[in-house]
Amino acid sequence: MAVELKLYDTLTREKRVFQPLDPANVRMYVCGPTVYDFAHIGNARPVIVFDVLFRLLRHIYGERHVTYVRNITDVDDKINARAAERGVDIRQLTEETYTNFKSDVAALGCLPPTVEPRATEHIEEMKTLIERLVAGGHAYVAEGNVLFNVPSMADYGRLSKRPLDEMIAGARVEVAPYKKDAQDFVLWKPSKPGEPGWASPCGIAAPGRPGWHIECSAMAWKHLGETFDIHGGGIDLVFPHHENEIAQSRCAFHTQVMANYWMHNGFLQVEGEKMSKSLGNFFTIRDLLKDWPGEVLRFNMLRTHYRQPIDWTVSGLNESANALRHWANILERHKTSFNSGIEPERGVLKALLDDLNTPMALAEMHKLADHARKGDHQAAQKLHSTGEWLGVITHAVMSSASIAAISEAAAQLVPEDRKQEIQRLIDARTAARKAKDFKESDRIRDELAAMGVVLKDSKDGTTWEIAR
Ligand code: AMP
Ligand code: ZN
Repeated sequence: MAVELKLYDTLTREKRVFQPLDPANVRMYVCGPTVYDFAHIGNARPVIVFDVLFRLLRHIYGERHVTYVRNITDVDDKINARAAERGVDIRQLTEETYTNFKSDVAALGCLPPTVEPRATEHIEEMKTLIERLVAGGHAYVAEGNVLFNVPSMADYGRLSKRPLDEMIAGARVEVAPYKKDAQDFVLWKPSKPGEPGWASPCGIAAPGRPGWHIECSAMAWKHLGETFDIHGGGIDLVFPHHENEIAQSRCAFHTQVMANYWMHNGFLQVEGEKMSKSLGNFFTIRDLLKDWPGEVLRFNMLRTHYRQPIDWTVSGLNESANALRHWANILERHKTSFNSGIEPERGVLKALLDDLNTPMALAEMHKLADHARKGDHQAAQKLHSTGEWLGVITHAVMSSASIAAISEAAAQLVPEDRKQEIQRLIDARTAARKAKDFKESDRIRDELAAMGVVLKDSKDGTTWEIAR
């Protein structure tokens, strides 16, 4: 197939024709989760976006000719803190979180990457890189730490293109007296008692652990080589994480580039606001999957181009659910079993080849649905196979039970812990009413009202909704 894939490259700030180093082995690395808690819907965005790219690359170059590496960060301060807080073993916490992550993203229709390397299984590669950097004059040992010396790299900062003072402020790097330069960042640091630790490199006697950036340089090297095709992640990773990955890998291998294309997805917001625990609008994939089929979440994510910010709203989810239900109903009316493995619709491919234009791809699918609605069986077949290929039409979507579930689609964006709290209060109110303690039941109703919860009593029990 004579195709031309164009991808926006953050490094050159332009859309460029994609040319792999080796078409027989197209190589992509995407920064994966730090495994200490359930992944939130913002974390799902890079997973879905790069899954679409993975599918497209496999389509162009052949399934066996694409290597997709998405790492697991299983050594980190947040992991240590959470394990201590819960009183569980670090390994137990990371394994449990990783298992949950895998099942959450599978529900979002994402294929497993070719390799999912764990940071803790690549300590030797990290130490090798660190020793090379020290030998090459790009890093130095200071008080049990190994630091990368930023001024040792003439063109440091090309990815983020920030002025020096902004970089120093943005990196929030510790101001430590032993640093040669304020921008220098940690490659290796001493482990405190009780923290995971490994024998240190560079003749440091005390055990230590790696910094975050070196983990990705080591895993990308091990699984993809010194230079590879695509490196991806969320826009927040451009600086300092990806800038520092580039510095480490390029200085260790004396290469001009680490990856040839740097791709970054925009941020996800909830109902127009930044998602954060303190604002109470923080949603895990797990929470959302209780109310919405994974296909609806995936479809909703793909309605926005990956580089744009996305606003995650109930009305958007309802629209996505309606669109999918509409397609499933049309396909069901064709009363046939559809063949799998048919070439995706050309218009859809064309849209994706233009820097993953998923909104355009979905618009093309709406056109197919329109033809199928008017009885065009070939269009129905194309809609089905393209939807399957893109991961939005699945067996579950096509089964009538699931279509009915989508049609309910009245769920609201209420975080799970808040839902549990509301249900606990409703149960207490029901118990108070049974005991004819109306003073208490009224008090609970008022408490719920103050939380913005409106109750509806019926003979079947009490339901609730958030006041608009
Ligand atoms: P983290 O576990 O925080 O390192 O994030 C894992 C991935 O999710 C990274 O690629 C982040 O850039 C991405 N990410 C985190 N929060 C959001 C968000 N709100 N919207 C989009 N991507 C995000
Ligand atoms: Zn990374």
